[in-house]
Amino acid sequence: MDGLDDEVNARSGIGMTSERTKMRMIEQLRKDGITDERVLGAMAELPRHAFVEEGIASRAYEDTPLPIGHGQTISSPFIVALMTQLLLENRTPAKVLEIGTGCGYQTAVLARLVKEVYTLERIAPLMDKARGHLRDLRFYNVRFKHADGHAGYAVGGPYEGILSAASASHIPPALKEQLAVGGRLVLPVGTDDQWLYVIDRTEKGFTEIKREAVRFVPLVPGLG
Ligand code: SAH
Repeated sequence: MDGLDDEVNARSGIGMTSERTKMRMIEQLRKDGITDERVLGAMAELPRHAFVEEGIASRAYEDTPLPIGHGQTISSPFIVALMTQLLLENRTPAKVLEIGTGCGYQTAVLARLVKEVYTLERIAPLMDKARGHLRDLRFYNVRFKHADGHAGYAVGGPYEGILSAASASHIPPALKEQLAVGGRLVLPVGTDDQWLYVIDRTEKGFTEIKREAVRFVPLVPGLG
């Protein structure tokens, strides 16, 4: 991964400063309550700056969302870390479905930690760019689908984990249906007032926990 990181650094012209700022980002995540070493390790390895445009690459390790084009944003490092930590809490899902590929950074974090990732994106050019980023980093365990996340992706399911990076007005029933027993769904719900939900599927049904107030782009119906 190091050689790869250097290659990407050379291409984006960021050089070694990115390594230091990346480690500062990891320290900040620890202070903010991220404790899962698997998540911290994956984020320490991945070149987040390679997922955004060169003009803003120097800001890639700040704890802030950044524009990725088409009116969308890459989620802040804390949100990516928190959602991944929740998805992996006391478990290692083998197969995960991600809704809202965006630039592919969250996808890469997941692909580092689980065996198989399916990721859905409604805006084709964003998906193509994300596919390129993951190819550059030599991830071969991700399947990209140009699809509306409201319907999930039944063909690939059931999933031990489902994560959405866009906020639905209600919990899409298809996502609950495609969750394996013992699986977990982590997603923001709401329009103006958004909350992060953690939904577990048990033998008996579903349990639902409303975690914390968040701010995501909306889950938009149909293809872009
Ligand atoms: N994890 C991404 C976050 C991107 S923002 C990243 O780190 O870059 C959320 C993404 O969800 C956007 O790319 C947006 O186009 C996508 N999206 C919104 N509604 C969607 C839907 N119905 N189906 C699939 N993707 C959707």
